[in-house]
Amino acid sequence: MLQPDRETRAEWTKTVTAFVDEFVEGLEAAPASTPGPAVMPPSPAETPGELADLLAQFGEAARQAVETAGPRFLAYFPTGGLYSSALAELLAQVTNRYTGVASTAPALVALEHSVIRWFCTEFGLPEGSGGVFTTGASLATLSAVHTAREHHGVAREGVVYVTAHTHHCVAKAARITGFPPERVRVVPGLRMDVGQARAMIAADRRAGLKPFLVVGTAGATSTGIVDPLDDIAALAEAEDLWFHVDGAYGGAFQLTARGREALRGVDRADSIAWDPHKSLFLPYGTGVLLVRDEARLRAAHVADGDYLQDFDHGTGVPNYSDLGPELTREFRGLRVWLPLHLHGVAAFRAALDEKLDLAAEVRTALDGIDGLEVLPSELSVVVFRCADDETSERLLTAINDSRRFFLSSTRLDGRYALRLCVLSHRTHREHVTEFVELVRRLSAAPAR
Ligand SMILES: *Cc1c(COP(=O)(O)O)cnc(C)c1O
Repeated sequence: MLQPDRETRAEWTKTVTAFVDEFVEGLEAAPASTPGPAVMPPSPAETPGELADLLAQFGEAARQAVETAGPRFLAYFPTGGLYSSALAELLAQVTNRYTGVASTAPALVALEHSVIRWFCTEFGLPEGSGGVFTTGASLATLSAVHTAREHHGVAREGVVYVTAHTHHCVAKAARITGFPPERVRVVPGLRMDVGQARAMIAADRRAGLKPFLVVGTAGATSTGIVDPLDDIAALAEAEDLWFHVDGAYGGAFQLTARGREALRGVDRADSIAWDPHKSLFLPYGTGVLLVRDEARLRAAHVADGDYLQDFDHGTGVPNYSDLGPELTREFRGLRVWLPLHLHGVAAFRAALDEKLDLAAEVRTALDGIDGLEVLPSELSVVVFRCADDETSERLLTAINDSRRFFLSSTRLDGRYALRLCVLSHRTHREHVTEFVELVRRLSAAPAR
């Protein structure tokens, strides 16, 4: 019963394909958000169900959500979820090859690793660099912090340097790897003030602590702002610290000329975490960790067991289980490999360039609206606010209540700010034009 015959498979596939087509075609017109309660469905029955019924149930649950796949989702970090990537996922899961160790599917691991190698080249990392696909930047960061700690042989006396704009995944990783919150130092600056960082490092050394890791952000979550990576790299070299770059959002802009300019110095990083499930438009669940020296990543994660003795270790490609905390993993690489080859790299560069252009246009347009103040931001993030926090909050509510767009907010210098990010591959000029018009209308007559 668990193995459907050919006819049943064809019928199921047809049903699912029809659903998928309708979903994708409907995205342009779909509301930006549809509120709904978390209704708990019944437990699974002993008897078989009908796929059509289950799909209807799934569809209704999926509908009552923020439309994160649609062109008008501008909150947090939009990511459309490339169709080609979803197809790759089907292929990966149907073939269900084991890629935790290389010898069970060496050519597939090589295929996945060819993408990692290409990323390393794009980021200017040297021979000997490498990395691993993770479920997201948080897990990539955890492995990076752990590797830095092992490489520098520090325990609780180790100190990590971040800014107030560094993503919380760094503090989380520090906590998981055994550093209490007071070992994570917040260096001042909207962009890290490297002089202050140097002074803080010196003070910590005098206090008997062991500075070992400095984190630069390539595209801060609230503002998209990039830290002075080149200066941080020089500091890390002078002070013998591990230099980690969090490019979860901004990393992929390295594929564009403007991004490479903004990220200058990223090639000097010891590790770089970034999220293809953000700025490479892939579905959720795809992050990547790149390291300058793959041997260090391996040294920090490798483990063995008697039950693994049959595996051949001479394949010439990595055993991914040696490079991260996972043993069994899905064949994560195909969902990146297939879109890159199918669409061609130029399509990704062009899409990212388009997002930079559109964000710049939105910045200029919002700046021209009475009563709005556009705050510093970079890459494809735009931050703005009204005269006071209450009006800003009301504007965000009015925008989201229109259900044409979905935005999020943040706080800068203690004040409320609206924030948007142009990043979905489905978001184009007509959408941002409509957005600006909506904001213009709502700011002229603020909702009560
Ligand atoms: C999103 C984000 C993260 C966390 O990444 P996940 O993929 O959600 O785990 C880390 N850093 C920055 C700058 C981010 O924007």
